[in-house]
Amino acid sequence: MGQNSDTISIDFSKNGSISFALFKPSSTRQSGNSISFLKSIIANNNSATDFVLVKTKTDQLGIVHQNFQQTFNGVNVYNGNYSVHSINGIIDAIKGKYYSISLSSTTPVLTETDALNNAMNYIGATTYAWQDSSLQAFYKSRMNNLNANLFPTGKLIAVSKEITSTEDKLCWIFNITSKEPFDEITILIDAANGNLIQKNSNICNGTPNAYTKYYGMQHIDTKNISGLYILDELRTTTATGNYARIHTLNNQNNSATPPISQIEFTNNTNIWDNNWQPFHVDQTALDAHWGMENVMDYFSTVHQRNSYDDNGGDVLTYMHWDLNKNTAFWNPNFKFIGLGDGDGKKFNPLTDIETCGHEFGHGLYQAATNWTTHTSVENDALNEGLSDIWGICVKNWSLQTTPINWEIGDKMMINAPNLRSLSNPKRWVRFSITRLLCQPNMV
Ligand SMILES: [Zn+2]
Repeated sequence: MGQNSDTISIDFSKNGSISFALFKPSSTRQSGNSISFLKSIIANNNSATDFVLVKTKTDQLGIVHQNFQQTFNGVNVYNGNYSVHSINGIIDAIKGKYYSISLSSTTPVLTETDALNNAMNYIGATTYAWQDSSLQAFYKSRMNNLNANLFPTGKLIAVSKEITSTEDKLCWIFNITSKEPFDEITILIDAANGNLIQKNSNICNGTPNAYTKYYGMQHIDTKNISGLYILDELRTTTATGNYARIHTLNNQNNSATPPISQIEFTNNTNIWDNNWQPFHVDQTALDAHWGMENVMDYFSTVHQRNSYDDNGGDVLTYMHWDLNKNTAFWNPNFKFIGLGDGDGKKFNPLTDIETCGHEFGHGLYQAATNWTTHTSVENDALNEGLSDIWGICVKNWSLQTTPINWEIGDKMMINAPNLRSLSNPKRWVRFSITRLLCQPNMV
């Protein structure tokens, strides 16, 4: 369905399905028919697809919110869900994500028990919550239910190739609480062969696993491919289950555009400390990956924005851009970020969190304004000024700085003075040079 006389506004996911639509009032859209409405406009009446009502809530304004789970031949589809808003029984908006699924069977090869054993092997905890009787007792009392049990129950779920990166798969999904180390993990196990498909910690600020240069030990999310961890993840960006990819790559001191020599940062464990080689060379990739996670979380939590383009756009960052270069930039044509290592005289690596927010901010500005580069001095100044503001917002939001830290570059500049100050813009000489020349991407 394209934008037509029926819709006031409409947006699409990367896979082409409708992520949001606001409709003109029409008696042809009755909330009592939400399911057939979704099936026709979202799933093109695909016979294997259904939508199951999960929850209905009426808010103080009388707007009814119905939440639906997408299913494929009766099996839930991972992350596939829509909310339908209606006023006086007439649907006025829908929002969510649809996956076109193709599976030859919804019968698992692997039993639930075998899948759970594999899941526990992939998690590798020494003790799980259900193995501890005092934790079980505590859980029963918290749930006010004598039958409550921390032992995980598996459910079959259809997972799109957009998530598996290969093909649509039938998986077992478990929520597993481990005691030692403590974590709550959602894990997807391939129901055909027991392979790990995805593993996410549900604990905010999970166990620190990355020793960043500027911010000490922090938690980062990664991806496991055939036993190797890489700096790649799908980060949840909205309450309805949308996500955007954060991918941090090694550009190996090259500067060709588009990049030609990028490789993954790899680690055979998910602990990225000084045992990871070559830690002393690549450590700041951890700062950038963690920084971009915080940028994404800031914009999704505070501004309900789904990545820079509000459409789940990948955040692709190339580390080691050029050789010892004082550079950090947003590339508007190819939509990626490049971060340099600094010359070691004026600049350390340009991977602090305000730089992450600043460069992402250029992407946001481009998406929001259809900016093409250097159209006017005023445009460039607005673009740079807003990016500095976003950088400071992200920095203070994620580090919960008290008092507020208004300085740009206090980590990455060697022998500060800092690069710029938002509380006292005239403090550093660079302010006037940057602003008068209005150089986008000077940093
Ligand atoms: Zn800039």
